[in-house]
Amino acid sequence: MTNNRQLRIAIIGAGASGIMAAIKLRQAGHEDVTVFEKAHDLGGTWRDNRYPGITCDVPSHAYRYSFEPNPDWSRVCSPGAEILEYVRHTARKHGVEGLIRYDSEITRADYRDGKWLLESTRGSEGAFHAVITATGVLHHPVYPDIPGLEDFGGRVFHSARWEDDVSLAGKRVGVIGTGSTAIQIVGASVAEVAGLSLFQRTAQWVLPLPNRDYEEGEKAQFRADPALVESEYLRLTHRMNTTFSAAVVGENPKAYDQIVTACEEHLATVRDPELRRRLTPDYKVGCKRLIMSGDFYTAIQDPMAELVTDPIDRFCAQGIRTADGRVHELDIIVIATGFDTHRFFRPMQVNGPGGQTLDQAWSEGNQGYLTVAVPGFPNWFMIGGPTSPIGNFSWLLTAEAQFGYIRQLIDRISEADVTAVAPKPEAADAFNRSVRERLPQTVWATGCQSWYIDSAGNIASWPWTFDKFRNDMDQPVWDDFEVSAG
Ligand code: NAP
Repeated sequence: MTNNRQLRIAIIGAGASGIMAAIKLRQAGHEDVTVFEKAHDLGGTWRDNRYPGITCDVPSHAYRYSFEPNPDWSRVCSPGAEILEYVRHTARKHGVEGLIRYDSEITRADYRDGKWLLESTRGSEGAFHAVITATGVLHHPVYPDIPGLEDFGGRVFHSARWEDDVSLAGKRVGVIGTGSTAIQIVGASVAEVAGLSLFQRTAQWVLPLPNRDYEEGEKAQFRADPALVESEYLRLTHRMNTTFSAAVVGENPKAYDQIVTACEEHLATVRDPELRRRLTPDYKVGCKRLIMSGDFYTAIQDPMAELVTDPIDRFCAQGIRTADGRVHELDIIVIATGFDTHRFFRPMQVNGPGGQTLDQAWSEGNQGYLTVAVPGFPNWFMIGGPTSPIGNFSWLLTAEAQFGYIRQLIDRISEADVTAVAPKPEAADAFNRSVRERLPQTVWATGCQSWYIDSAGNIASWPWTFDKFRNDMDQPVWDDFEVSAG
């Protein structure tokens, strides 16, 4: 490397991965780092999702930054508010809170003369040598196309737009959807509501996930011996990556069979055969993102709960009318219908050097090079870009691996005689071809509808093992990149 130049670097998104990128850039000696955040607080998904029962179903000792071990997790799988506080604490401790420009949603990016000119909802934000997007994939709420929403006389909102003054206690609550979110809400609220109607369009496989509090003695041991925290991290990440994550991509049939058996045995605990039948999915375990829950089947068998499988016809003043003509009277409706995974950081307009927009580049689906970059868009790097390991993987682990790779690309453009790096189109084509060839081996392609696959058949998640991902993220294959000299 010759005569390093100081770079201006923009990170878009102050969620868990944007905070990590800011910390690591500062640790690598980059002084001029700005984090743009559309909201008025950090935390991303853990800020937006505040529904009752929100928990990260990836064990906490694996869902943490490698550089910020935490001996004090309250539970094996900790609540969302605790994770938000952990992210906030990490940002504060590593001194990056002051780098965040809040209420600044980046709306436009234009590449000119080796720099990205950014515009936000506040106006021009200046020019940056490199941009790292860290916007997550589950942040554009999807609302169902069901008529009559405005007719409903009670409170209605999306699970990711929880209205904080709402309490479910003593209320007749309707929950639409049966994804991980809805299942957590049902488990957490059935004991306090006056009635809970779960509107199911598609049954889900549910893997029993025993969750428990860490005892004070265990936390004290973790505090006293950092090596214990580390070995728990390594044990959990190794187990997740070699069993579950390998199973869904067809690499560990034995683990897959064990997961199937665990789900089937779990379902068999539902006592009423008719309810059990209605809760039985007609697709393979893991095709949709697997639900992890130790309390859902208990909750849905509670006398206060009802599983509604007649399709929803419309919202009405009193609640929801189903196709059988029945009106389900409700005080509160929670729309837990998920997110548009494929929108990424759009509606932002990203205009590359040749006049090509990212919308054009992605007109047939989001495709990049090795999850982190897009041909024709130099110095535009993505954490959680297309085909990243998502779903039941640990997002923080993925994000750190991607950052390690991106940091090497940034090192390259720090060299005095280099202005830009971008993947070669043929390298991206080869990568995307291999993704398509690989897809049929995964359980995601076995015939169900899920947010993993877009309308053009592109897969949103990494179709190989996590070990391969980590290897591929280890260092760039420089032959796959165009490196422009200034
Ligand atoms: P989701 O998994 O996309 O589930 C959406 C649910 O809404 C599905 O059951 C879907 O049914 C249903 N739905 C959609 N449109 C509908 C309509 N018009 N009428 C009736 N039902 C409709 O969304 P999510 O539960 O919010 O979860 C999204 C992702 O967030 C998860 O997969 C996971 O990756 C993440 N998450 C993680 C955790 C965690 O603990 N780590 C917790 C919550 C969420 P169909 O199946 O028929 O489409």
